Amino acid sequence: MIGFVNMLHSAHDSPTTKGHAMDTAPMQPPTELSQGWFTTWEIAPGVICIAEGRHMEQVRSYLMRGSERWMLWDTGQGIGDMRAEVARFVPVAADTLVVVMSHSHTDHVGGVAAFADAGCDIYAHAAEADAIAAGVPHEDAVYWLQERFLTGALPPGFDPDAFALHPAAVTHFLTHGEVLDLGDRQFAVLHMPGHSPGGVALWDAAHRLLLSGDTVYAGPLYAYSRDDADPDAYRASTRALADLAPHLDTLLPSHNATPQGPELLVAVADAFEAIATNRAQDAYIARDDEAGEDFPYDLYDYGAFQVRVRPGWGRG
Ligand SMILES: [Zn+2]
Ligand SMILES: [Zn+2]
Repeated sequence: MIGFVNMLHSAHDSPTTKGHAMDTAPMQPPTELSQGWFTTWEIAPGVICIAEGRHMEQVRSYLMRGSERWMLWDTGQGIGDMRAEVARFVPVAADTLVVVMSHSHTDHVGGVAAFADAGCDIYAHAAEADAIAAGVPHEDAVYWLQERFLTGALPPGFDPDAFALHPAAVTHFLTHGEVLDLGDRQFAVLHMPGHSPGGVALWDAAHRLLLSGDTVYAGPLYAYSRDDADPDAYRASTRALADLAPHLDTLLPSHNATPQGPELLVAVADAFEAIATNRAQDAYIARDDEAGEDFPYDLYDYGAFQVRVRPGWGRG
């Protein structure tokens, strides 16, 4: 972190990528998959989306270009080789790339160990560090390889029998309000608990852009879990993000359709508000007490997104 601030002064002297023959990302989503797994394109100026469209989770990671250092926002599911994908654009090394984790859930930390092995700093909120340092063993990780979750073939060369999410040590704990400086581009860290205790979002005020992590996306929003979701905190976080909407043009979520407009932030915050105050009867469609391998939840459907909370939350 400290290095980032110092580097401001030499921002234009020695771009770290100069002299390297790097790929450039297409400006629109390409029809060809990279590695037979990723769809990779420049979704906003200087921001490369790395999407995993062959898995039902529809995870999106983002690579941000900076004059002094690049930044990777999440490392995907660990099925495609995220390190190789990033290396198309920037050398993966301590002085060229920092990896920032939105949170510790398995669909975002899959490739993190490969970046730690390369010497990259791994940033995350302290509340997520233990899970990232624990990894996920093969017997649990294979859950995500079930046929019902896949919409296409696994990438060539991928070995399902060896699939595990390898642990990585977090080298820096993110705090609310901290600024991550890439040289010519800055991102403010916003602590947004609720989906998980140490979930963060990143705000680039100059480019009117927000990376919302798993707090807001167009799809089922998980404000419930066995151990780490907190719907009250989630409600407060969505309101805080909605308050930013007037300052944003581009919303880059970590799942599903991307980019989104900032109006999604307001819609999600309003939905949580309505559910929390027992004014969401129209959206309440199911209380699923036989939710397969999950556990009971209340489901509220708002069309573009759904909200899952623990049974009875807001209706008491
Ligand atoms: Zn998550
Ligand atoms: Zn996720």
